Amino acid sequence: MGLLDVFFPKKCVNCGVFGAYVCPTCFIYISFDVRPICLVCNRQTYNGLTHEYCRGRYVIDGTFSSITFGKVAKRLVYRFKYKPFLKDLGEFMVDLFYEGLIQKEAFFQSLHADTLLVPIPLHRTKYRQRGYNQVDVLAKGLGKRLGLPVASLVVRIRSTKSQVNLDQKARKENIAGAFAIAPGHEGTFSVRKTIFLVDDVLTSGSTLSEAARILKKAGAAKVYGLTLAHGQ
Ligand SMILES: [Zn+2]
Ligand SMILES: [Zn+2]
Repeated sequence: MGLLDVFFPKKCVNCGVFGAYVCPTCFIYISFDVRPICLVCNRQTYNGLTHEYCRGRYVIDGTFSSITFGKVAKRLVYRFKYKPFLKDLGEFMVDLFYEGLIQKEAFFQSLHADTLLVPIPLHRTKYRQRGYNQVDVLAKGLGKRLGLPVASLVVRIRSTKSQVNLDQKARKENIAGAFAIAPGHEGTFSVRKTIFLVDDVLTSGSTLSEAARILKKAGAAKVYGLTLAHGQ
């Protein structure tokens, strides 16, 4: 038992029972049965890949999510934003993320020798408030498990309001122009051809689509999204 367990003992985010972040009883509410959608037309796609007829030059190539954004997943993601739980809970969430991804054939087929994981960044104001980006923790953990390098190639240049209460069109407008290629990384794309953008939750997909667009404009050949949870 570490010092952290004394001050912040592990307890189930759903029922409060001590011992684990999700107890065995509540674990059954975590569903790996994600129904992937095409981020271009918002309709279902059976394997996570963007429909052939929806593909375009600056369009995201697909998105893979590990669990559905149900009640327990929501509580996990919420808890993850409080620093005392970050490291320990992060490992648990990386396990879920990894387990969900390795079940997907299309995910493996999208992997290449030059694949790079890129976390979706926070704006620096928010980063300073929180002190960390929880998505970095997921990206690093996943990179270790998959043997893939992680690089912060994208920066957020404009602060955006929360996407939660916005409709699809408003979300697109809200996120437009929010990202840029990180200074000094403009030339990275000649050697790195496949990029997996990492985020915690997929809702409308407008954030991933916008980040994919600027990466493709910078020369990335393939860009996919990877998210721990998928809100349906
Ligand atoms: Zn429980
Ligand atoms: Zn489509």
